[in-house]
Amino acid sequence: MTNMILLGAPGAGKGTQGVNLAKIYGIPQISTGDILRENVRNKTPLGAKAKAFMDRGALVTDEIVVGMVIDRVAQDDCNEGFLLDGFPRNLAQAAALEEMLSKSGRSIDHVIGIEVGKDELIKRLSGRRICKGCQASYHAVFSPPLETGKCDKCGGELYQRDDDKEETIAKRLKVYDEETHPLVEYYTDKGLYRAIDGIGGVDDITGAITGAIDRASDNT
Ligand code: AMP
Repeated sequence: MTNMILLGAPGAGKGTQGVNLAKIYGIPQISTGDILRENVRNKTPLGAKAKAFMDRGALVTDEIVVGMVIDRVAQDDCNEGFLLDGFPRNLAQAAALEEMLSKSGRSIDHVIGIEVGKDELIKRLSGRRICKGCQASYHAVFSPPLETGKCDKCGGELYQRDDDKEETIAKRLKVYDEETHPLVEYYTDKGLYRAIDGIGGVDDITGAITGAIDRASDNT
């Protein structure tokens, strides 16, 4: 059983790496951002509560997000492990996570911190395009689809997330620095943080992550 957290600023590549890691370790990728966006799309009561926070690049309340993660991690497909992508986002969520896992005798094994500088994050986020169908991620300049506006994988329409517009990007990066970045020290102190350079080819970075997990597992 491997329980992992993917930590990193918006645009660091958590979603992209999460897809690879979920395949390699055979565990579900739980993206709180994706779950929230699905609720907004489906106009659920939870989506209605979350939308205003998301549109302005703020964090959705801990109560909403923690409840969502408790439900998701209790599902059977998490019995052999899980990969959290975008959660926890602050110290209170990290404490709530520990509490919920301890109730079922579980704990976090690895926190993967994908580290990318601010200028690069802004470039990545402002060009990011997402498939409406399968959520695959592209970049208008760095990794465009074969046909403009159309997903290579499923043919779905590509769109720019509302919160990937310039004003909101700055706000999200500020929220990351102030609220999420303290988790780096928190998990370093617990001996769980594995720092990964997030600049490079997708598969090379995946290799660096699995290498760091192997090394850390050998030492325990
Ligand atoms: P993401 O796709 O991870 O960048 O998340 C998109 C947006 O969803 C964030 O800007 C927040 O508004 C919200 N969100 C996602 N995960 C969390 C979380 N763990 N806590 C609070 N808000 C979240």
